[in-house]
Amino acid sequence: MLVSSFFQSGGKKMRETFLPFSKPCISEEEIAAVADVLRSGWITTGPKGAQFESDLKNYTGAENVVCMTSETSVMQTLARAIGLGPGDEVITPSMTWVSMVNITALCGATPVFVDCDRDTLMISPEAVEKAITPRTKLIVPVHFAGAALDMDKFRDIAERHKVMLVEDAAHALGGEYKGEKIGKRGHAMFSFHPIKNITTGEGGMFATDDAELADRIRSLKFHGLGVDAYDRQTHGRAPQAQVMEPGFKFNLPDMQAVLGIGQLRRLDEMNRKRGEIIACYREKLADIEEIMPLAEPDYEFVHANHLMVVRLDIDKAGMSRDEFMSELKARNIGTGLHFRCVHLQKYYRDSMNCQSGMLPNTEWNSERILSLPMFPDMTEADLTDVIAAIKDVLKK
Ligand SMILES: *Cc1c(COP(=O)(O)O)cnc(C)c1O
Repeated sequence: MLVSSFFQSGGKKMRETFLPFSKPCISEEEIAAVADVLRSGWITTGPKGAQFESDLKNYTGAENVVCMTSETSVMQTLARAIGLGPGDEVITPSMTWVSMVNITALCGATPVFVDCDRDTLMISPEAVEKAITPRTKLIVPVHFAGAALDMDKFRDIAERHKVMLVEDAAHALGGEYKGEKIGKRGHAMFSFHPIKNITTGEGGMFATDDAELADRIRSLKFHGLGVDAYDRQTHGRAPQAQVMEPGFKFNLPDMQAVLGIGQLRRLDEMNRKRGEIIACYREKLADIEEIMPLAEPDYEFVHANHLMVVRLDIDKAGMSRDEFMSELKARNIGTGLHFRCVHLQKYYRDSMNCQSGMLPNTEWNSERILSLPMFPDMTEADLTDVIAAIKDVLKK
């Protein structure tokens, strides 16, 4: 029997303990495996890192995988590898996390924002094609919330215009497009941040079918040294390695990689649970007209179920999204915001003269969007509490 943890407090229906919008799902075995690495005498990048990369290759089918300390560091390394700089343009959604736009700006290149679809929040291949100029160096679309982009069309455009296409697959580990795992083909970047489908605390990976690019990235992520082979005698790199070009320090330590190994083993199971929670949400939200879930694309794909994103009908609700979020918080229900559009954030408003009205669908969503609590260990009772709190806030 499910016992609701709600009690009445000053007219509000109040959950007893705070329900975060996301919570990493970490097993006792994973904790023990991290402890083993800590006791082993080798905690930075070594055998566990090599195994994690090999497991990720097996899982996604990618030919080359390079792990780093975050997806943002993957972006920075990639930007260096392709020589992204002043005069270059990067086509990106504004409905995304700030990482790729920031890296573009840091390189002195120009972000070119493309409006998203109002209900899938993904940029369309057609809109991307219109934004291509002779200066376009990179196209970085986002597989939003775990749905897959229409990759056939993006690949076709990239090929015809001879522009590099790199998928931001932060939300999409475990997802598929037309029978292929995201990351298997082309170039894709993933994140292992604590809210993502698997976590290493912080972490990220680059998956590519271009072996030469993978080698370059591998070297650039570690000081630009010429040798990356793990030396089985010294447990480290060959000490003779020398700098081929200046590089970064973005290697993922074994104490984190070992967590990833365990997480990846349970990824399908965790994504399945996420999917069940999302299905339950969709059913229970169907009769709350103020809450609008995302639409799903109609081509063949497997959802990675990363986030439970909804939009608040602010007219019907008679309150702003921010007010709605704080009313839920006052009832001990956490929410997330994926995302506040990038082009209207202070730096980009000021430096690029971005203005409201530029990207209507993006801005419409940016004012209405929020992510409801959703993580593998969430219970049916938790979900019942969220729905009850939403109804209470909306006075239903
Ligand atoms: C999380 C996220 C990133 C950044 O990942 P980090 O590992 O935190 O650097 C980039 N893009 C999107 C769409 C994300 O959600």
